[in-house]
Amino acid sequence: MVLTTRRRTLLGMGGACSLGLLGTSAEALAAQENGRKLGYAIVGLGTYADVILPRFAECRHSRVTALVSGSPEKARRYAAQYGVPDSGLYSYDTFDTIRDNPDVDIVYVILPNGMHHEYTLRAAAAGKHVMCEKPMANTAAQAEEMIAACRAAGRKLMIRYRSHFEANNREAMRLARSGELGTLRIVTAEHGFNIGDPTQWRLNRALAGGGSLMDIGIYSLQAARYLTGEEPISVSAVESTDRSDVRFREVEDTINFQLVFPSGVVADCVSTYGSHHNRYRVVGTQGWLDAEPATAYEGNRLRLRREWRTADHPAPELALNQFSGQLDHLSQCVMTDSDPIVPGEEGLRDMRIIEAIYRSAREGRTVAL
Ligand code: NDP
Repeated sequence: MVLTTRRRTLLGMGGACSLGLLGTSAEALAAQENGRKLGYAIVGLGTYADVILPRFAECRHSRVTALVSGSPEKARRYAAQYGVPDSGLYSYDTFDTIRDNPDVDIVYVILPNGMHHEYTLRAAAAGKHVMCEKPMANTAAQAEEMIAACRAAGRKLMIRYRSHFEANNREAMRLARSGELGTLRIVTAEHGFNIGDPTQWRLNRALAGGGSLMDIGIYSLQAARYLTGEEPISVSAVESTDRSDVRFREVEDTINFQLVFPSGVVADCVSTYGSHHNRYRVVGTQGWLDAEPATAYEGNRLRLRREWRTADHPAPELALNQFSGQLDHLSQCVMTDSDPIVPGEEGLRDMRIIEAIYRSAREGRTVAL
């Protein structure tokens, strides 16, 4: 009975196929029901780790068992707060010995983008499954190596695209792809914020891989892809960066891009470090949906226009929020040997399109994908 309920919850999130749970063996599901929680090692105790760590308390299948940090003092403080034993504390130098820690099943890389590649490779070499933050890497070539390393080690690799686990975004995907808006015509997606401290790693090319597109514009790109359920066939982009602004010596500020999809849908996307945006809109022949904020940590809002009426459209609630839902999803995929709905290949697709966006802006022409 419990099993049935759990299954139904997951099906409600997006269908067993897309969640990789079809074909799950009875033994694997039974193991899942035994209540064993898989152990996560958090690598990098920064701002986003602060968002993630409290979420383990809501998880059914995940717990935090190790911390990796350049600051032993901070690691000890977090360990006391989240109940991590001394034996689970690592520095970047001692990270590879994590292979000997049986309480760590999954390594979650929450480091600056430019370090994702190295720590994913080291985690796979240590025999651990990997959750990696977005953007997956600095380049598509690095992303390919990360996928190959995890595959060779027989480990799972999932990219932390949290919107795939958030109720409103899942509902927007369903509405957009189901035909309830008619034939899709136009998507607009805007993501940005006014970036501050010029010394932060997000403005350092080696650590960030690029500017607003790598950090926040990637949400516009993701939205265009998951709302349409299609892969773009061409991209044209325009960059606007004031290079005399001390923040933008190494990376771009604004880079707006247009994606054309095989069905004819066109997506206009904003990516900027100059102003605040968090919104998307999908327009079909029979109506539209509008989300603002669209991909925030909380308080996302969806409106729908159909049959000449516009109204708020609260999404059906999910059993878990986007943070704990995503942690548990990878744990379940490991326990049942199934594929995550946002695997390394999903991150690689974005990296290839991101490189095409940069090429288009640089060369001033449309780039075919
Ligand atoms: P922070 O700068 O707040 O934290 C990064 C942490 O990485 C630092 O605190 C530090 O931890 C460690 N680190 C190791 N080497 C360096 C270095 N050379 N420079 C800076 N930090 C270093 O970044 P965020 O937490 O905001 O971002 C981390 C990752 O998470 C990024 O890839 C980002 O894109 C992603 N992210 C994803 C979000 C999402 O919603 N999915 C939201 C926010 C970020 P320590 O001191 O413990 O060594």
